[in-house]
Amino acid sequence: MDPVKKLTHYFEHFPGIGPRQAKRFVYHLLKSSPETLRDLANSLTALQRHIRTCTGCYRFYEAKASNGTLCAICADNARDATTLMVVAKDIDLENIERSSVFRGHYFVLGNTIPILEKSPERKILIKELLNRTLALQKSGLQEVVIALNSTPEGDHTSEYLIERLKPLTDGGKLKISLLGKGLSTGLELEYSDSDTIKHAVKNRFQP
Ligand SMILES: [Zn+2]
Repeated sequence: MDPVKKLTHYFEHFPGIGPRQAKRFVYHLLKSSPETLRDLANSLTALQRHIRTCTGCYRFYEAKASNGTLCAICADNARDATTLMVVAKDIDLENIERSSVFRGHYFVLGNTIPILEKSPERKILIKELLNRTLALQKSGLQEVVIALNSTPEGDHTSEYLIERLKPLTDGGKLKISLLGKGLSTGLELEYSDSDTIKHAVKNRFQP
């Protein structure tokens, strides 16, 4: 395949990018300087070489020789080990961190579950979440906060998670909570400002 077509094809598969935009990206690159292109190519290689998935929370992180297989948050002993927050995507986690309202641990599901999905366990890291919850329970975990967008798909996923986590609650010793609805009805973590997120985390409730 000719390189223009091949690259257009890649960009088309980016979230929110259509064929026309994909082509525009390629022509933009064609007009860029050789240095820019080389730098971009190096950045792509570096992604593959230096970015790993954390074995604790499953977010992407920059692997350094010193910190093993855990990201800086999971490796930080000063974080509150009594609370685990479950989010859909890395961007949600970053946004919550920026609001500095939460000091516990995280888990990144990788996705949400489409409403008509027949095999939900294939869409999200549910087995990994259950294992992580069990492991953290040994070091004092008391609450799992499900922090998903308040969209139909987010709500659907929250219900699924509640069902799956219920057997681990040990007669109420482990609480499961959901984010407060926030200041507006449709909370979307990726696009919410810090005040909205703070409000939603502080007003979390048990379903
Ligand atoms: Zn981590």
